[in-house]
Amino acid sequence: MKAFVYRGPGKKALEERPKPEITAPTDAIVKIVKTTICGTDLHILKGDVPTCQPGRILGHEGVGIVDKVGPAVTVFKPGDRVLISCVSACGKCVYCRKQMYSHCTTGGWILGNSIDGTQAEYVRTPHADTSLYPIPEGADEEALVMLSDILPTGFECGVLNGKVQPGSTVAIIGAGPVGLAALLTAQFFSPAEIIIIDLDDNRLEMAKRFGATTVVNSADGKAVDKVMKMTDKRGVDTAIEAVGIPATFEMCEQIIAPGGTIANIGVHGTQVALHLERLWDRNISITTRLVDTATIPMLFKTVGSHKIDPKLLITHRFKLDRILDAYETFGNAAKTKALKVIIEA
Ligand SMILES: [Zn+2]
Ligand SMILES: [Zn+2]
Repeated sequence: MKAFVYRGPGKKALEERPKPEITAPTDAIVKIVKTTICGTDLHILKGDVPTCQPGRILGHEGVGIVDKVGPAVTVFKPGDRVLISCVSACGKCVYCRKQMYSHCTTGGWILGNSIDGTQAEYVRTPHADTSLYPIPEGADEEALVMLSDILPTGFECGVLNGKVQPGSTVAIIGAGPVGLAALLTAQFFSPAEIIIIDLDDNRLEMAKRFGATTVVNSADGKAVDKVMKMTDKRGVDTAIEAVGIPATFEMCEQIIAPGGTIANIGVHGTQVALHLERLWDRNISITTRLVDTATIPMLFKTVGSHKIDPKLLITHRFKLDRILDAYETFGNAAKTKALKVIIEA
């Protein structure tokens, strides 16, 4: 089968690989129908993710058709159409019992990381019964690819952790796919204001179409002043960090209102300054989390009932044999205006 393989920092290839086999009784083999590329895959290609070793097939998102199941799989059978969660969960360990699937002792984010992933014709999915979700007849499978990772990430790490409330003021820093996923799902709770901050005017334009009440281009270094002015010097109730660099997290610290919550989504690789000398008496909370995808069933229903349309995030489509072009397009988003790219296997 064809597979996209990480070959070490800066190196990647589309290769011929043997089809995966069932190795544990709880495994399923899924024939991939559609997958996508995540910002995390770009981090891996740079060599930033030490758990992902050269030779690994990347990808942790997608929809497909069950090809084979191990003898202990009871929920799924060959021919079933399924959504693959980016997080594998045994359903039984101490963390899974708390719905913290990202910390599953024999799962978590392993697909396209410590085991082979979904950017291939077939993938082996461990803990199939509790890591795959059945796709109802007639569902829009392209929209559902957005539910493997980015929608639950924006919703769980940003909106739920950030305690977005009716009538509240929310700022989302970073209008990439995950920031925009937070923007889409924040609207479940009817906040009064959603301010989106980014450097890219094209993405800010998208954010307006997705429901942002105000957009701020932070290129002039005056974003904090602008947000404070907009909020009568109070700041925002929820500040969602969706970039993963010190400057954007510190911006959240500067714009958070007393009693507010800073919800971090970004993957941080360097130390960030925590300004407790300013924040110690302001009743704020800071939350961190890796997505657990515990909200996939709920998000499924909101997509089915057209409360949200995650398909808006898809800007480009490629066949699997052109996945190198897809990476080129996704990796140069400022130029190509790419958000999410669909790969058809
Ligand atoms: Zn991802
Ligand atoms: Zn577990």
